[in-house]
Amino acid sequence: MISKARKVSDYRQLTKELPTLRYVDPERVYINLQSDRCKTYTLDVKEGDKVKLGQVIGERDGGFFKQPIYSTISGEVEGLTKKLHPTGIEVDCVTIRNDFKDEYHESVTDRPESVIDKMTKEEMVDVIRHAATVGLGGSGFPSYIKLDTDKEIHTVVINAVECEPYLSSDYRLIKDSPEEIFYGLKYIMQALKAEKGVIAVKKTKTELIDVLERELKRFPHMNIEIAKLADYYPQGWENEMFENALGIKIPSGVLPMEYGVIGFNVSTASAIYEALKHNLPIIKRHLTVNGDAINFPQNIRVRVGTSIKDLIRLSDGYREDAEKIDLVIGGPMMGTSVEHDDVVVTPTTTSVLVLESQDFHEEPCVRCGSCIYSCPVDIQPVNIMNAIKRNDTKALENLEVGKCIECGLCAYVCTSKIHLTDYMRKGKKLLG
Ligand code: SF4
Ligand code: SF4
Repeated sequence: MISKARKVSDYRQLTKELPTLRYVDPERVYINLQSDRCKTYTLDVKEGDKVKLGQVIGERDGGFFKQPIYSTISGEVEGLTKKLHPTGIEVDCVTIRNDFKDEYHESVTDRPESVIDKMTKEEMVDVIRHAATVGLGGSGFPSYIKLDTDKEIHTVVINAVECEPYLSSDYRLIKDSPEEIFYGLKYIMQALKAEKGVIAVKKTKTELIDVLERELKRFPHMNIEIAKLADYYPQGWENEMFENALGIKIPSGVLPMEYGVIGFNVSTASAIYEALKHNLPIIKRHLTVNGDAINFPQNIRVRVGTSIKDLIRLSDGYREDAEKIDLVIGGPMMGTSVEHDDVVVTPTTTSVLVLESQDFHEEPCVRCGSCIYSCPVDIQPVNIMNAIKRNDTKALENLEVGKCIECGLCAYVCTSKIHLTDYMRKGKKLLG
């Protein structure tokens, strides 16, 4: 994540009006077999096998759920390799060489609207489970588990707030394919028998509001509203969004479903549309390449499994006069720093930030209290840091480190440039 001391230009302004580049297919994709949630897997293909786009090639095991693994291109399996996952861990990947034929697997078929209209919740949940659809805002949580709730849901909220600086991939998705988001919302409302749908967007994004309001006219029979929210960070945090879009305050640690509401990221709504309409898993996503050390910042529609190295090349490479570079996968506030660019794109990879390194030396805490005042979940980062240093797990429990949403604000405001978010992550790990 970035520190306040960095000169933060509004790189979103730089990329958002650029057209989304349709990615020239990569020579190879590297499909991650493991992830931070799924440590074990089975693989059903071997070196030399021919595979098609959308074909199941194995299964990840997340303990309480299993997830089919798909090929995102057609081509030939070359074998296993190791790559970095966007969370910074090294994972097994299967390499597939592209035959550039884009031959779809037989299971990828269009489902007419008249058929979808008659589907039950169980049937829809089953399609979404089989498509391995997950929360694409970054959570990676299986969407079918969320949809399978037995709570009564009255309102579905689509989170189009995208509040992290530098990011504009959701922005481009809405501009390029608004119909996918409305259909995704329609299907979710049908599955949950929800009366109302809301698309939450920042009120400063007037161009998006125009696009959404125009699209809304195609769904006059549906109870859908556009909620225009204030522009600040972390407006996109779900609890903040529910409070401002619906006036419902959800206490920390309580699931929104308990209050009859549920939220999905805008990219997840689009993935749910693809799964139900075309029986397609997530084979591509919008992704922002941005930062002060890349030659050509842009939004790219990219195959899952593409190497970040290829995306850097496609963005005209690193700026030659940048002395040292930091690579961050995800947004500057909540993203993960990675050691090199041999990282694979997964369905939850929203962005790659290429930033010129600046040397920040942590200084001792001056007890200014800024981290406490800025925390949106009202915990005390400085006291949590001190408890971690003392290895005092009892204090960590009392200080409720588990409530931390890793928004990065405490580190951003810290006068002494202390990496407080890293301490919060460590504290959560210590408690298990
Ligand atoms: S990272 Fe955690 S502790 Fe820090 S401000 Fe955000 S929620 Fe609070
Ligand atoms: S913001 Fe930094 S310097 Fe200020 S109290 Fe928190 S940890 Fe200490």
